[in-house]
Amino acid sequence: MPAPVPSILHSHAWQVSIGRLLLLVAAAAGVGYVSGHLQPALIAALGLYALWSLYTLLRMQRWLLARTRLPPPSGMGVWSEVAEFVFRRHQASRQRQRRLVRLLRAYREAAAVLPDGVVVLSPMRQLVWFNEAAARLLGLDPRRHRGVILDRLLRNAQILAWLGAARAHDPLIDVPSPVLPELRMSLRLIPYAHDQWLLVVRDVSTLLRLEQVRRDFVANVSHELRTPLTVLHGYLDLIEADDDPELDGMVREMRKQSLRMTRIVEDLLTLSRLDHQRESGDETVSMAAMLAGLRRDAEALSQQQHEIRVEASSARDLRGSEKDLHSAFGNLVANAVRYTPPGGRIVLRWFDEGDGSCFAVQDSGHGIPAEHLPRISERFYRVSTSRSREKGGTGLGLSIVKHVLGLHQARLQIESEVGVGSTFSAHFPPERVQEHAAGTAP
Ligand code: ADP
Repeated sequence: MPAPVPSILHSHAWQVSIGRLLLLVAAAAGVGYVSGHLQPALIAALGLYALWSLYTLLRMQRWLLARTRLPPPSGMGVWSEVAEFVFRRHQASRQRQRRLVRLLRAYREAAAVLPDGVVVLSPMRQLVWFNEAAARLLGLDPRRHRGVILDRLLRNAQILAWLGAARAHDPLIDVPSPVLPELRMSLRLIPYAHDQWLLVVRDVSTLLRLEQVRRDFVANVSHELRTPLTVLHGYLDLIEADDDPELDGMVREMRKQSLRMTRIVEDLLTLSRLDHQRESGDETVSMAAMLAGLRRDAEALSQQQHEIRVEASSARDLRGSEKDLHSAFGNLVANAVRYTPPGGRIVLRWFDEGDGSCFAVQDSGHGIPAEHLPRISERFYRVSTSRSREKGGTGLGLSIVKHVLGLHQARLQIESEVGVGSTFSAHFPPERVQEHAAGTAP
């Protein structure tokens, strides 16, 4: 809160100055009256006062210009009070400035030793400041590169395209460092203040290596399990136990479980292949043929226990990998059949939404409680493990769906109500859809 301005009548300096002026005028009047030169005496007194005031002003100006840290000179009447006020303000602002400089230095020192690289960029992407980690990861030199536009220093096309798009919410992961190619980095661009940008560079080499070890392990285990399972499955198929009902039941259960294991292994191998893939294919995928195939799959799985409908209002096709898209859509359809009791209805939809298109599978099944929805596409996450197992689920279907859609820049949306049913929708962006070319076989 600003300090209240003292009234002139309560200011000692003002009282003294006004008193002095009155005294001078009275003295001049007295002298003038006695000498018979009242007017010249008064003019001389006021002139003297004006000279003194000018002189005081000169002293004050000198003090101000000297930027001295010493207190202002005394004996300047009212000006002393003004100077005192300026001096106090000046002192307070210097103290504030010192505090800010200390704080700034502490922040800079902390940012300088951060293990992650931090680069402050101007709106034109000029390097304003960067820490040691950024210098090491990006090959920046604090003496030569301050003020240089970042794009001129980074020659990596992937980084440049990403910077150009300035996708602040979309971090760029796994790019090689321009100076140490064996180092993998993740970059994130964060807007702050009005138009400043913070580029955060993180060394993710160890993380990616561990991730790779995990992926390779899963892929190798799955691969190694494939052959023994095929052998087991083959021998089980050869056993004929029709005469012994007890043995027959056991063999059927063993066949069922070995089939389930084979499906898990196949799904794990699919996931590990998708994990290694950076891009989807770019084939034209005929949606008419896809929908017809999916309907056949659904009918085969349902064994006429459900009403299955296809509603295709879009004449567009997709661009991507036919095999992967069939696997993703097939998982959605299989889930709809699996988790809808007999007599239920399953609708496969293909429709346009603006420039993009959507594939949706709606069922009138059990539905999914809302609290499970955020984690439903995690590997091996199930709402009911026993129901999933009983229906032959692997717990990997929705992970495959999510991966495949990610590779096609599509988004999975799940709406579900317990006891009413679920709708799984795959929303495809404009760059992934194309008008159905006339003459293309459906
Ligand atoms: P699973 O092989 O067990 O079906 P998914 O990854 O395909 O594995 O699905 C994960 C879980 O999501 C399932 O176990 C099931 O609980 C639930 N789920 C998936 N689709 C549906 C659906 N259409 N209706 C109800 N629950 C579903």
